[in-house]
Amino acid sequence: MTTSREVRLKSRPHGMPVADNFEVASVDLAAPTEGQVRVRNRFMSVDPYMRGRMYDRASYVPPFKIGDPLQGHAVGEIVESHAPGFAVGDMVSSMLGWREEFVVAPAALQAAMPGMFDKLPPLGGVSPSAFLGVLGMPGLTAYSGLLEIGKPQPGETVFVSGGAGAVGSVVAQIAKIKGCTVVATAGSAAKCDWLRSVGVDHAVNYKDGNLLDAVRAAAPKGIDVYFDNVGGEHLEVAMEVANPFARFAECGMISMYNDTTPAPGPRNMAMIVGKRLNIRGFIVSDFGHLRDQFMTDMGGWIADGRVKWEETVMDGIDAAPAAFLGLFTGGNTGKMVVSL
Ligand code: NDP
Repeated sequence: MTTSREVRLKSRPHGMPVADNFEVASVDLAAPTEGQVRVRNRFMSVDPYMRGRMYDRASYVPPFKIGDPLQGHAVGEIVESHAPGFAVGDMVSSMLGWREEFVVAPAALQAAMPGMFDKLPPLGGVSPSAFLGVLGMPGLTAYSGLLEIGKPQPGETVFVSGGAGAVGSVVAQIAKIKGCTVVATAGSAAKCDWLRSVGVDHAVNYKDGNLLDAVRAAAPKGIDVYFDNVGGEHLEVAMEVANPFARFAECGMISMYNDTTPAPGPRNMAMIVGKRLNIRGFIVSDFGHLRDQFMTDMGGWIADGRVKWEETVMDGIDAAPAAFLGLFTGGNTGKMVVSL
């Protein structure tokens, strides 16, 4: 018998989540039987979409249940194996984050999202946590949303909100690789400095002054692609500065996830017609078929230094709720992960 700890949803947040919505509990794990493995998670992911699963409503993923351990991406090491093809020391990925250890049949590891692997490919010196970020679901989100919906062409201007986050920072750098001018927003001067250090042409602190004026000044010829991570005022500004036939990849709207009443939409919706904007929402699983192509391209870009990635790492399962809350207060640069 092994003891593990897990994070459970104690109550559904109303508005901004608070620490008291979560509880950390100890559980006894039964020893693995024939065909099962015991996995010690090394890193778990906290992601903005998890906020949506804390509402009791139908969505593209079912809601979390009160009292149950939360779920999410994790990478871990097999510490005991009774399953053929899985050896002690193998690194695996799963949707069984928010807990230190678990016992499953390996088939349960394969239920992960596109961009994930049951067994991680050779790491080649890269931290396994990269498979929760730049080489995992957020990386595939950036790659597929930008290339398949944004379709950036050399010489065009790409605008990305949430630019210093897990998805946004990868979008910005792929857009540079594609020969575009990149305008990115982030919530602090330090994040903007980091964005400039990875090649972003114009980094705008959206908390500092008038956002429309700043984006207009950064993109005097208008924008051709908008990659939206934030929604709200950012979306309104993007429509305002968009060129005719601009493409909008609607990835997320984090500024609205904790609203207790729906916020009014952008005031300039009529521009969709006049400018013939092409606005398309997507979920990363729409592009699971691009996983291998993504891994080849992203692996190459990381190896030749054209994509750099950052992580904010919080330590220990007790820190997992704070790591999650930090997503809504700008606590992370690059991918927010918890080491376990
Ligand atoms: P991030 O790493 O970008 O973390 C969240 C960041 O959002 C924070 O660090 C903060 O940065 C910013 N933020 C928080 N609140 C606000 C606000 N009110 N206004 C503006 N910025 C805010 O998260 P991810 O990269 O994982 O996710 C980015 C977006 O992509 C989210 O909307 C998420 O839901 C979405 N997503 C969608 C997927 C899909 O399949 N469609 C898949 C994965 C993610 P700052 O300091 O700059 O404010």
